[in-house]
Amino acid sequence: MNTDNPKPAGKPTPAARPTPSARPAPAARPAPAANKPTPPPARIEQVRAACGHMTDFPVFDDRRDQRFREQRRAKTASRMCADCRQKAEVERNIQAEKMKEEKARKKAEQAEAQAKAPQGQAAKPVQQRLPDGSVFHVVYDAAKTQWSGTLTVPEKGEFKASASGVFRLLELLDRHYWQAVGRAKEG
Ligand SMILES: [Zn+2]
Repeated sequence: MNTDNPKPAGKPTPAARPTPSARPAPAARPAPAANKPTPPPARIEQVRAACGHMTDFPVFDDRRDQRFREQRRAKTASRMCADCRQKAEVERNIQAEKMKEEKARKKAEQAEAQAKAPQGQAAKPVQQRLPDGSVFHVVYDAAKTQWSGTLTVPEKGEFKASASGVFRLLELLDRHYWQAVGRAKEG
């Protein structure tokens, strides 16, 4: 399905992305030419495109594009030919489609795995609070720019740690407790 891609596959996009080095003419003069029909090229030359194929290069009347002709030529030579651009675009669309499918497949797999997961694993982290009466005692040492402190848990003992930040310290103490009671804290 291709509903959210506004560009129909396989249609070449002429000059959609100008390269910074070789931008063709009209920027300088605002376009009164917009309403006039484009005059046909004076002749068509062949230029070797980046893909190695020869590609048509329209050359216009000197008055019209003498100034920017070589820039246009360089740009034509720096791009792939129209056929190859079209193929590349089709290829890109196919790749994008594949990636989308892959993503959807992974998501479905994850959802399935989650549905199958043992209930205990999902339910466990709900209640991991410190026991009643737990006490943090923290002190800042300005010389060391360090917090150190203890967490005292009734019937479990005292846990010590230090850290540069007070929240980090509380986290460390908390973690020490959970390690001591044999459960890694989740979340
Ligand atoms: Zn080509």
